[in-house]
Amino acid sequence: MSRPSSLPHRCWAEIDLAALERNLHRIRATLPPHMRYVAVVKADAYGHGLPQIAARLMHSGADLFAVANLAEAASLREVGPDWPILVLGALLPEEMRFAPEYDVTVTVSSVAEVEQLDRAAAAARRHLDVHLKIDTGMGRLGVWHEEVGPVYLAIRHAAYLRLAGVFTHFSSSDDDAAFTAEQRRRFLVALETGCPGLARDSLLVHADNSAGLDTIEQAGPFNAVRVGLLQFGIRPVANSLLSGVPAEPVFSFRARVGLVKSLPAGTGISYGRTHVLRRDSRVAVLTAGYGDGIPRAASNRGQVLIRGRRCPILGRVTMDQTIVDVTDLTEVAAGDEAVLVGRQGEAELPLSEFSRHADTIPWETLCSVTKRVPRLYRTQLGV
Ligand SMILES: *Cc1c(COP(=O)(O)O)cnc(C)c1O
Repeated sequence: MSRPSSLPHRCWAEIDLAALERNLHRIRATLPPHMRYVAVVKADAYGHGLPQIAARLMHSGADLFAVANLAEAASLREVGPDWPILVLGALLPEEMRFAPEYDVTVTVSSVAEVEQLDRAAAAARRHLDVHLKIDTGMGRLGVWHEEVGPVYLAIRHAAYLRLAGVFTHFSSSDDDAAFTAEQRRRFLVALETGCPGLARDSLLVHADNSAGLDTIEQAGPFNAVRVGLLQFGIRPVANSLLSGVPAEPVFSFRARVGLVKSLPAGTGISYGRTHVLRRDSRVAVLTAGYGDGIPRAASNRGQVLIRGRRCPILGRVTMDQTIVDVTDLTEVAAGDEAVLVGRQGEAELPLSEFSRHADTIPWETLCSVTKRVPRLYRTQLGV
């Protein structure tokens, strides 16, 4: 979809790269100096745009990037030919031969994966770094923590693989400190008993995602964190101990008023007439709908900001247009900016509220802003 650059934007996301940089510095400041910062930039950097986000994170001091798969790793390679990249997801058997080509670090959870990857690396005559993933209670990737030994030994015996890291992932770090502590304990026991001769000092040992930072153990063997959400200013924990990290929002979501008009009381609004005007009203028709990422679930529930005032969504959100009540606004005109997520003057509509109206969580919202929506990058520091 190409679009003449002189056409004004009807719906866009604004990404504040300076805020991203400030967030990274704030998170870093809470961590001991030896902690490596693995910037998680999967899913197009949580919908913010991979190349721009990764470039700014690298400039701001990220040590390593984590992506979900090889396609994402390939995109990242175009921006940073020599940046270290960890692929978090399992590679398909037929993907293994591309790992040397993209020079990525691969996550392994099974003996079969180790053997296939070693063969692929041997065929390419290139040594590959791997991170051994241990399942301590997430029930997703990783070797079960009581069965680590054979996978560990397979890596040590693989001629073309080098063990560069060991890690686990928390299932409930945002709401269950006790289970998270149990996962940490299982991980340490697995390293102790399942990995004889493990040279921890030369490895990255990591467990914490954004929510994990709440309960991070400064003492243990951990020397890296994997941060996604928090660098974008999204707090995974409701009553967070992370209040010490004043991360600020990076993302905002905006559209325009396309038409303002008056309608008499009793008029039904939008498909299905699920809202009927109770009074003579003025409505504004916004230039965005679910085709842009305003969820249909926000029908008759969500709000937007126009001229710094909250305006309720009336009736169903449609593919390209959304109707809001502007009866109580003295001035509003076609062309006005409507804020779906973000600030407008003193007023703010947080991503968490937008997401609540959509019956989802903020990080799913970010992945749901469609490709019709251009991402505009603000780069200045100190704004
Ligand atoms: C997504 C992901 C992270 C980052 O989690 P956040 O909660 O966004 O900080 C870390 N580790 C793994 C394995 C992940 O899949």
